[in-house]
Amino acid sequence: MKSCASFFNIAMTQPLDTLGRPLRDLRISVTDRCNFRCTYCMPKEVFGRGYQFLPREELLSFEEIARLAAVFAGLGACKLRLTGGEPLMRRDLEGLVAMLSQVPGIDDLALTTNGSFPLERIAALQAAGLKRMTVSLDALDDAVFKAMNDVDFPVAAVLDWIEASAAAGLGPVKVNMVVQRGVNEGEILPMARYMRERGHILRLIEFMDVGSTNGWRLDDVVTARQIYEIVHAEMPLEPLQPNYRGEVAERYRYADGGGEIGIIASVSQPFCGDCTRARLSADGKLFTCLFAIQGADLRALLREGAGNAELSAAIASVWQRRADRYSELRSQQTAGLPKVEMSYIGG
Ligand code: SF4
Repeated sequence: MKSCASFFNIAMTQPLDTLGRPLRDLRISVTDRCNFRCTYCMPKEVFGRGYQFLPREELLSFEEIARLAAVFAGLGACKLRLTGGEPLMRRDLEGLVAMLSQVPGIDDLALTTNGSFPLERIAALQAAGLKRMTVSLDALDDAVFKAMNDVDFPVAAVLDWIEASAAAGLGPVKVNMVVQRGVNEGEILPMARYMRERGHILRLIEFMDVGSTNGWRLDDVVTARQIYEIVHAEMPLEPLQPNYRGEVAERYRYADGGGEIGIIASVSQPFCGDCTRARLSADGKLFTCLFAIQGADLRALLREGAGNAELSAAIASVWQRRADRYSELRSQQTAGLPKVEMSYIGG
């Protein structure tokens, strides 16, 4: 039985890309819809009333997603993450979780959510086989958070979701906070204190030029170094080894033993060299980078009756041609490229 941790424990059947990276993580976007309008991801001006989201018939069915997940597992994928948009907007997501938890070779099944749903769903997700919960929360201050989610959604409800997820054993809960200069850097310390006291792992994320609608500017990036210094000045940190090669966050522990915190530095300290992530959009396209411009259409193959061997060969050939390292090549020129929206392929 292969394990996720072994970056190099690669069977012959597992393709490597042009930089020698295996395919380990599959991020599955199950919808491009969301009930929030976070300004750094789905600005209201673009994703307003008239925005055309994917019609239902264009979405992969749960059976199609589970089938593709099994094919990816055969190629080395062993970690699945459900994303969106907001994945819990997809009706009966628990049904998909139950199907994916039965896929051989998958030993980690996680969900990234904005935590704005009835708490009862947590127990149902866990009973269906979900292993880990990641929650997005960008501030403790209600006014700051409401300004960032742009739908007036209160902090308290998301905090309840985090606590209930931890209580349900889906922890340690990771809490993702996107830091934007002039918007919420003042929330770094309150969030760090709060999550530390409750044993949750705060992950501070540099503001990224995902998609082409969030008005990204380099000046608005609070770098990993700056974030580290803000936290370290009050709560001294010590570096931790990554849990596995290819882990996205730089891990630190509080020197006084008060838990763990992570910093995701896609802009100032790119980590493309170990990137083992593939992304599947809700309409069945395979993307090999968060900052991709186009994807490979697996849904067409599926609906034309392709067998698993044909699907596997198609995915392997895409992966073997992969040379993505956008974050290492990022420049003022690349910022303007027509990249796919993060809300379409998931973070
Ligand atoms: S920029 Fe692309 S290749 Fe680099 S780490 Fe992110 S997803 Fe991977």
